[in-house]
Amino acid sequence: MEFTELIAQARKLLFERNNLSPQCSAGVVACGLETKAGNTYFGINVDTDCGLGFCAESSAISAMLKAGEAEIAKIVAVTRERILPPCGRCREMIYQVNHQNLQTLVMVDIDKILTLEELLPCLWWQPEE
Ligand SMILES: [Zn+2]
Repeated sequence: MEFTELIAQARKLLFERNNLSPQCSAGVVACGLETKAGNTYFGINVDTDCGLGFCAESSAISAMLKAGEAEIAKIVAVTRERILPPCGRCREMIYQVNHQNLQTLVMVDIDKILTLEELLPCLWWQPEE
């Protein structure tokens, strides 16, 4: 699936703040990813008043892991207006679920795609070769 289609499908998951309850905002950011096997998974962010929550990438990764996959070919996070580069925690999460994901293509802006390796130049831990 092309990034443009991942973006279009992820944007269908976006909804307005506080649709769920006065305390919880969710779906302000959505994420789409495609695995090496060609399957796609999507997720939305969660943000509560006390600061608990998680990024849309974490939600999409969780859906992928639930389906028994861990190798990500490409990933993108979106709001209605823009593409969002993954935060540092999500960059590390993408790497930690499978070290092969250093080659994951990450859309960080319209017309700008980098590998995870370019976004994580100094790894926390590397397997001994
Ligand atoms: Zn994040």
